[in-house]
Amino acid sequence: MKIMKFGGTSVGTPDRMKSIIPLITGDEKVVVVLSALSGTTNSLLEISELIYAGKTAEAVDKNEILRSKYKQVVNDLYSTDDSRKEGFDLINSHFDYIGEFISKAFTKLHEKAIVARGELLSTALFHNLLRERGIRSALLPALNFMRIDKDGEPDAFYIAENFKRELALYPDEKIIVTQGFICRNAFGETDNLKRGGSDFTASLVGAAINASEIQIWTDINGFHNNDPRFVKNTKVLREISFDEAAELAYFGAKILHPSSVNPARQNNIPVRLKNTMNPDDEGTLITANAIWEDYKAVAAKDGISVIRIKSDRMLMAYGFIRKVFEIFEAYKTPVDMVTTSEVSVSITVDNPQYLKQIEADLKELGSVEVENDQSIICVVGDFRTERTGSAPEIFEALDTIHIKMISYGASPHSLSILIDSKDKVQALNLLNKYLFDQ
Ligand code: ADP
Ligand code: ASP
Ligand code: MG
Repeated sequence: MKIMKFGGTSVGTPDRMKSIIPLITGDEKVVVVLSALSGTTNSLLEISELIYAGKTAEAVDKNEILRSKYKQVVNDLYSTDDSRKEGFDLINSHFDYIGEFISKAFTKLHEKAIVARGELLSTALFHNLLRERGIRSALLPALNFMRIDKDGEPDAFYIAENFKRELALYPDEKIIVTQGFICRNAFGETDNLKRGGSDFTASLVGAAINASEIQIWTDINGFHNNDPRFVKNTKVLREISFDEAAELAYFGAKILHPSSVNPARQNNIPVRLKNTMNPDDEGTLITANAIWEDYKAVAAKDGISVIRIKSDRMLMAYGFIRKVFEIFEAYKTPVDMVTTSEVSVSITVDNPQYLKQIEADLKELGSVEVENDQSIICVVGDFRTERTGSAPEIFEALDTIHIKMISYGASPHSLSILIDSKDKVQALNLLNKYLFDQ
């Protein structure tokens, strides 16, 4: 059994939805994980923000605009009046549901319930399309088996047990359709796996059933060696390892959700990235197999803050670093990069939620300085210590960029550099020119 996840653009228009049918109707049983139609999650978040801000009339307008967009989708997607009628009823039930939240007390939980409409709509519309075409399939509600724990981490055991139980209800169906992204939290409320989370669903579900392959279908031929949104002439990588893909995804390569490689890596399930618009292209294969190359790819992660703590005493005195990290742990804030000197330590975080509290607590230990609007550039390649000569090339490429921190030696696969976000595009282009463009 394989997993096939289709992202927002891949199901973004009625024609695109129709075009994925031949891709999923092969011999092997498939679990089809769908995202919301492109733009929908953003629109639903905007509606939630308007409700939150008490801008009722604007929220109603936006909800109605989205309802009409979906009416058009239903018109173009189906060919019979019965299917269209069913489609209109479906979308009305979802947009009426959103309408009921407008002008009521609103919390983050309501926002999650609204945002979940995107994936609930796309999967129901697609399932009905298959039925209209006479293709058998089962629609499994992700809210029956996807669950995160109280720390927001997926509960792999729960997911595996419940997904297998749901699957067992449909032993004869060759196509199983389910929602990406959405889940329940530890209290049973509707929640999600954060932006881009459908990739994570695909990988978690793949791990749950030990799938033969996890396919991520998107709008580009595969993993590129640099961010195509900011750099021209990027090239597709045909094979990369789990470790390399995980580093790139974690450090900002948007093509994969930051955590999505882990379940596949732990269960040694190959991940294939494919282009829905160009299905004959082989795409990128991600496996445990590492092919060392001096430089493979570059990615950048924005929204980073750096915290510099200067101790009054010698930093390495017993227990100082432990006390620093305990503060981050107390606020459940993971750290990305760390560098130390005799009396100071610099730490980066990508989650600013508790930054003020962390800063206040750290002040008990020494003087503290926080700088926002930073980006981490991650270069993936061969950084095994037995190799010489890689670092000079990178720093030569970046000799016009202000470098704030360097992390080297933590991973044999990568080197990370902290810079001001305003320099990111220039840095990505310089690295492209020096490392790949010869
Ligand atoms: P989907 O909606 O299918 O999940 P995403 O927009 O989340 O698609 O991810 C695909 C996009 O990721 C590409 O269109 C591309 O702009 C962007 N991207 C960023 N870095 C990379 C990279 N290294 N390789 C390929 N695509 C990348
Ligand atoms: N629809 C969600 C998002 O836009 C999840 C996903 O596309 O993977 O973030
Ligand atoms: Mg995505």
